[in-house]
Amino acid sequence: MISRQDCLARDSDDALAPLRQQFDLPPGVIYLDGNSLGARPVAAVARAQQVIAAEWGHDLIRSWNSAGWFDLPRRLGDRLAPLLGAHAGEVVITDTTSVNLFKALAAALQMQTEDAAHAGRRVIVSERSNFPTDLYMAQGLAAWLDRGYQLRLVDDPAELAQAIDADCAVAMLTHVNYRSGYQHDMAALSAHCHAQGALALWDLAHSAGAVPLDLNGAGADLAVGCTYKYLNGGPGAPAFIWVPERHQGRFRQPLSGWWGHAAPFAMDPAFAPAKGIARALCGTQPIVSLALVECGLDIFAQTNMAAIRHKSLALTDLFIALVEARCANHPLGLVTPREHAQRGSQVSFTHPHGYAVMQALIARGVIGDYREPAIMRFGFTPLYTSFADVWDAVEILRDILDQQSYDIDARRDAVT
Ligand SMILES: *Cc1c(COP(=O)(O)O)cnc(C)c1O
Repeated sequence: MISRQDCLARDSDDALAPLRQQFDLPPGVIYLDGNSLGARPVAAVARAQQVIAAEWGHDLIRSWNSAGWFDLPRRLGDRLAPLLGAHAGEVVITDTTSVNLFKALAAALQMQTEDAAHAGRRVIVSERSNFPTDLYMAQGLAAWLDRGYQLRLVDDPAELAQAIDADCAVAMLTHVNYRSGYQHDMAALSAHCHAQGALALWDLAHSAGAVPLDLNGAGADLAVGCTYKYLNGGPGAPAFIWVPERHQGRFRQPLSGWWGHAAPFAMDPAFAPAKGIARALCGTQPIVSLALVECGLDIFAQTNMAAIRHKSLALTDLFIALVEARCANHPLGLVTPREHAQRGSQVSFTHPHGYAVMQALIARGVIGDYREPAIMRFGFTPLYTSFADVWDAVEILRDILDQQSYDIDARRDAVT
């Protein structure tokens, strides 16, 4: 079995290891929750200082032009695009994932309605295990449209192909499942959607910055995702939406605010959508938060997704192997697929006292999180997680389980 010494040796051979210095992680913490809130880039403090003191404080309203605030959603979208397999001019960073999903789903349904061959379709396909906000947004939109749209939810990814049939208007799928870490084959499912006349809308919340993506190559139709998870944009940082050039002319979304207008400062009483990706915008953005997204993107620009994926799989393979070897006599169940092609950048294990065990881990500096039912979730972020971190985290988990040093009556915090 691999030793801690072996892990240290892998760290000294790891070309990504130096990037850890560009993150500020508190001493004594092994952070395995970058899938929920990415760690803070060191540069974020200086950038926040610059935006607040110089751009806002000194330059005041002139900064919409002089500091490029007005173009920020598009400029940062262009910087994110290569990580998604998107082109410049196809991505904006704006609003939240929930809101962007609403816009994208509404636009997709409208595109189908305007296509005579598909206008009668009323089914939106998704998975029951999808992140709830995605399902809630679809439910809310369907109810408001009041055109008889229904959500068809499958319980197993293997059922998707059958569920996406000639009644399906849009398949609204999350590429990497937040709970299990299961990764779909985006190209295969998008192709299946098209063969059935459906559109493929992808949520990349747990994919962007975590796994290589090729939205255009995969033939996806629309996509949204978070910047505060693997992209390290900061708590509540604005999300992204991707509309490929081929769909931009037909993309109409209901939150038709002035930032999506063809000429926002014409102050025309009638809405006319901007030509390109700007039509996905709605209104004024939280500039301080938005500006910090760039600090995470600056770090990604120093490497590439192939290198990140290579290390991600090595880290998750190592974690699975060590947990199974060292905690073998405990009732842990691997939820995440062993097959690389089906795995995102996290590993989930069930344990009957998952919440209590996770609380004990956090108390000892190993920060993961807990999701119902009974799932302990560990995210691996190759930019700042080392092989020795994995070894140490498993050692602490083993000790907690062997000693049963967790409190099964632990009170639940509001955020688990
Ligand atoms: C994290 C996550 C979200 C979060 O949406 P917000 O609007 O940022 O709260 C949405 N969908 C999925 C699939 C997620 O994993």
